[in-house]
Amino acid sequence: MLEENIFQWQIKILKNLVKINSANIFTERLLEDSPYTPIERDVANYIRDLLSDLGYSPKLIGISEFRPNVYCKIAEGDPKLIFNAHMDTVTPAKGWAQDPFTPVIRNNKLYGLGAVDNKSAISIMLLIAKLWDKIETNAGLELHFTVGEEVAGSHIFGSLYLTQRLNTKADFCICFEPGTKGIRVGNMGFFRFMIETKGKAVHTGFSAWIKHGKGENAIVKMAEIAKRLGRIILPGEDPLFEHRRSCITFPTLIQGGSAINIVPDKCVAFGDARLLPIHTKEDVIKEIEKRLEGIDYKLTEIRYLPGWKIDPNNKYVRLLQKVASERLGFIPSINGVGPASEAYAYVSRGIPTVNFGPDGKAHIPNEFVDLESLRKVDEIILDFLKTV
Ligand SMILES: [Zn+2]
Repeated sequence: MLEENIFQWQIKILKNLVKINSANIFTERLLEDSPYTPIERDVANYIRDLLSDLGYSPKLIGISEFRPNVYCKIAEGDPKLIFNAHMDTVTPAKGWAQDPFTPVIRNNKLYGLGAVDNKSAISIMLLIAKLWDKIETNAGLELHFTVGEEVAGSHIFGSLYLTQRLNTKADFCICFEPGTKGIRVGNMGFFRFMIETKGKAVHTGFSAWIKHGKGENAIVKMAEIAKRLGRIILPGEDPLFEHRRSCITFPTLIQGGSAINIVPDKCVAFGDARLLPIHTKEDVIKEIEKRLEGIDYKLTEIRYLPGWKIDPNNKYVRLLQKVASERLGFIPSINGVGPASEAYAYVSRGIPTVNFGPDGKAHIPNEFVDLESLRKVDEIILDFLKTV
């Protein structure tokens, strides 16, 4: 059992983390995503200071000083493990009953922005660092606290940058994304893209347009594209991803036209494809090209993160399932899920990685973490370290 005073220490840390605003404004302004805006910097400094106080030598490693990841080696050992948490949160959704940056505990739930996604994860990792000398384990451990997850899953400023800089290698990695019901051994990928159409602007009152049809309506062209794309399901399934298929949705956002009395010369629309690991962005582009034959348009890539999966019978996955079952009183499923995460950065380097973390609700007003499950996850991870 985790001692009560240690758990209270963790809750205090979690509250402090919630109070530090690290809302990622670029979740709403994808195209402006910048390495020079200090989204996560205060959280990173807090983590660095705390780990230093515990006697470790954490390092800030970022593409710029404004978006630092925190890296901390806890110990060498075999097997070599990595724990990951991301430091950014979504921006507060409308409808909070309280200030999102003032943590409140009610009915054993801690409410606040980032409470479960992903500041509980940070608190778990700091707890492990604090207790490390008392944990009987042969394992080695690195902690990675990363930036930009809410925008990109694995971000080129975040886990992708950090793992490349460090040439990270390990036997197993846990990203503490919320949820004890399942150990996620795969994520859907995504491909976000923009399509532009061009027209010829002309005043709607001029005879060039009325009489001779001289001009071209870029929005009408886009309407044809929207009709041909709409919602496309790519053929193929994967038993790890139950009820999931690769799906292209277009458009999700649209802009066009300059005035009520001008034939529009430009239209821009955005699309989002969600992909099983069997499909890549090339499959999406090929499908779009096939459907849009004969139409003049320009497609630009905005963001791509491939889907992934690992062997569900990996020995560390099975061990985690076993120790989790004992603490939870049920057997967490082993499956693939929708949202992208930091895991891709590790899996793409050949490191088997899972998503597993405390329960709660995220990306909604009144985000919370269930403190009972946070405590259970702490204990599961301690058990895992002792038996690995
Ligand atoms: Zn998250």
